Amino acid sequence: MSGGADAGRRAELERSLAQVTERIERACADAGRDPADLTLVVVTKRFPLEDVLALHELGVRDIGENRDQEAGEKVAELRERLGADAPTVHFIGQLQSNKAGHVAGYADVVQSADRAKIVDALARGAQASGRDVDVLVQVGLDDEQGRGGVRPDEAATLADRVAGHDGLRLRGVMAVAPLDADPAPAFARLRELADGIRSKHPDAHWISAGMSGDLEAAVAHGATHLRVGTAILGSRTAVL
Ligand SMILES: *Cc1c(COP(=O)(O)O)cnc(C)c1O
Repeated sequence: MSGGADAGRRAELERSLAQVTERIERACADAGRDPADLTLVVVTKRFPLEDVLALHELGVRDIGENRDQEAGEKVAELRERLGADAPTVHFIGQLQSNKAGHVAGYADVVQSADRAKIVDALARGAQASGRDVDVLVQVGLDDEQGRGGVRPDEAATLADRVAGHDGLRLRGVMAVAPLDADPAPAFARLRELADGIRSKHPDAHWISAGMSGDLEAAVAHGATHLRVGTAILGSRTAVL
């Protein structure tokens, strides 16, 4: 009862989390994969701390946030309340270089490193706060580069840059599938890029792909991390 969300909301979250878990298990069965090899990152952006605490009680251990101020405040509160038991925090939002250092001060994982300036700012922030931060290179799979991400042909160079910094641990790649298109070719391309990077950096074996609408395709194409918001928490427009 420490979650703060009312009983109805908790029941709703429990139900939707179970549905998503079932979708992941089915997708794994279809792909011949072990669900234990997948990490579900529940994207809690724009939802209140009470929801995060209720999800924590339901066993969620990884959350995703995309705005520095909101994320920083939530994380501080979570760590104060839950201590070492607080969830692993993945920053998944587009970064500005003046915010990146701050994010590196609290995020466990930054999934959205997409240019040299951001990588360098993350490294300075990590070093200043004496932390090691896991980093994914975000790759733009859209032909227009509107949604963030390094061009695919520049991803390996950016990965090398992450790996070269003290305080940053290169873990792999992240992408958002193009809007209104079959996500399968995009995820297949991401896997190829990931394989190339991993051949040089063996620890960089994470592939963060797949959201509420396309997690099955991501599982089929080797994703290790899924970022699911709406299918678990509901529509974000109702919240603001
Ligand atoms: C918001 C967000 C998600 C979650 O999307 P849903 O469709 O709500 O599951 C995943 N990845 C990124 C980068 C996001 O910004």
